[in-house]
Amino acid sequence: MDNNKTFTMIKPDAVQNGYAGLILAKIEKAGFKITAMKMTQLSAESAESFYEIHRGKPFFKDLINYMTSGPIIAAILEKDNAVLDFRELIGNTNPQEAKEGTIRQLYAKSIDANAIHGSDSDSNAKIEGEFHFS
Ligand code: GDP
Repeated sequence: MDNNKTFTMIKPDAVQNGYAGLILAKIEKAGFKITAMKMTQLSAESAESFYEIHRGKPFFKDLINYMTSGPIIAAILEKDNAVLDFRELIGNTNPQEAKEGTIRQLYAKSIDANAIHGSDSDSNAKIEGEFHFS
């Protein structure tokens, strides 16, 4: 399978806080090419479907409420080794544990509202990209 594509969402907190432009600039500066992008607002149904794997976890309801709380920016990104390089660029799920200079360390406040999503595998990148762009 190709390893040159990943999928991202700039999450509601980052859009709301005015960080979308800064985050997109950082993504491009790191060598990712934006090949599809749209601003949209997730319905509860689509957020639940996207995060199906987390259904039943204690944070699931909060996650859905948060992800539907405002607009997001969804995008497909291309670069060699895209999934792993992008996970490195965004940093740990918990911003308190994210490395210096990562997007979550710079622009996120908490694990609940952590600014950005990045696919965790090539197969999920394909599924998630098709979920938003088909
Ligand atoms: P990611 O791939 O780094 O985004 O992390 P996951 O796929 O494991 O989780 C999806 C999203 O659910 C994360 O980005 C967080 O917003 C949220 N999340 C994950 N784990 C926790 C947790 O333990 N507590 C809370 N409140 N939210 C979590």
